[in-house]
Amino acid sequence: MTTRVPFDLDRYLEGIKTRPCFICGCVANDPSFFHHRVYEDSETIIFLSKYPTLQGYCLVCPREHREDLSKDLNKAEYLRLQEMVYLLSRALKTAFNAERIYVLSLGSQQANSHLHFHVAPLPRGVPLEKQQYNALMVENGILQIDELEMARLAERIRIALTAEMTDQQASSSD
Ligand SMILES: [Zn+2]
Repeated sequence: MTTRVPFDLDRYLEGIKTRPCFICGCVANDPSFFHHRVYEDSETIIFLSKYPTLQGYCLVCPREHREDLSKDLNKAEYLRLQEMVYLLSRALKTAFNAERIYVLSLGSQQANSHLHFHVAPLPRGVPLEKQQYNALMVENGILQIDELEMARLAERIRIALTAEMTDQQASSSD
């Protein structure tokens, strides 16, 4: 069982206010914005959160820098992004035998303005008072997962996601 370690929120907030967009940096393969990638296509990129509070915690993002969920995506673009959120949710459910899948769009105009969806699997057996926001907040500490294990997690999710995408293609061509 992976335990949580304290997270330096003040330092993190100071850092994200001054750095360039971390999602655009990841898309551009800037090593200072490296994240373990799960999936990418011409429109979407999915990678593991660098500060996970749950195992398998992913971010789903448009590759292009879009900010306003209600204005910067047309309906078709939004629905394609949501389709990836749906398929990833199914993959996380399978890969982690999750009790629930949490989905949030967060971000801030002061930092992390690039639109992204948090998609995170809640394990079975977490006490009620430790579920929901409590399970997601970095203020309650983050999981200490080494790089090798992060790469393994990304691979595990990638395999499950590929299976979901294959199933979907098969059912849509029936
Ligand atoms: Zn960006």
